[in-house]
Amino acid sequence: MSIEIEIDGVTVTTEEGRTLVDVAAEAGVYIPTLCYLKGKPSLGTCRVCSVKLNGTVVAACTIRVANGMKIEVDEPEVVDMRKANVELLFAEGNHNCPSCEKSGRCKLQAVGYEVDMMVSRFQYRFPERVQDHASETIWLERDRCIFCQRCVEFVRDKATGKKIFSISNRGGDSRIEIDADLANAMPPEQVREAVAICPVGTIIEKRVGYDDPIGRRKYEIETVRARALGGEEE
Ligand code: SF4
Repeated sequence: MSIEIEIDGVTVTTEEGRTLVDVAAEAGVYIPTLCYLKGKPSLGTCRVCSVKLNGTVVAACTIRVANGMKIEVDEPEVVDMRKANVELLFAEGNHNCPSCEKSGRCKLQAVGYEVDMMVSRFQYRFPERVQDHASETIWLERDRCIFCQRCVEFVRDKATGKKIFSISNRGGDSRIEIDADLANAMPPEQVREAVAICPVGTIIEKRVGYDDPIGRRKYEIETVRARALGGEEE
């Protein structure tokens, strides 16, 4: 059913039930995302897509549009909230962009530029989470994980549907885990999909960490904003 919503004072005509971040992007309004994967169920874990809906802060990736909704994206309080959420993610992990294999194709880094982050307002925690090298093809740089759960939900063993990745413990002790036996059965294209699905540099394919030359990586060619507005961003 055709409906009308308002985004930053502009009327947008769309279909009822569509995801707000997609509707906004098609209307030329960029809302940053990290855990959201277009076409997949929303996870709502990272909150960097926070916007105001009828005055209340919500995660835009979890909102299905309905007639008459009033959305504020470019509103000072919620703009700063999104920036704070990104800064918090940087403070909670070890994100040393210049030396990271994912630099230039890391969505957290790209979104950091979009929200104008220079330094985190939060105290850096410098977590010590040991790397995992048990799999033959994948290693986990655990201290870069932002716990978005994309890999947990969307990377499954082809034969059994079992989860290959999981999160152990809680709070500050949380850690991303990999089932090495299932990971060893992943075909090469699925390994590359898992690397791509991770919005940071936690899931890294062994032996090809720097295969994409610096200067020609996806967010160096086209910003995450341009990719999202062009419908290309995953
Ligand atoms: S390993 Fe990557 S995809 Fe998986 S939860 Fe951590 S950040 Fe998300």
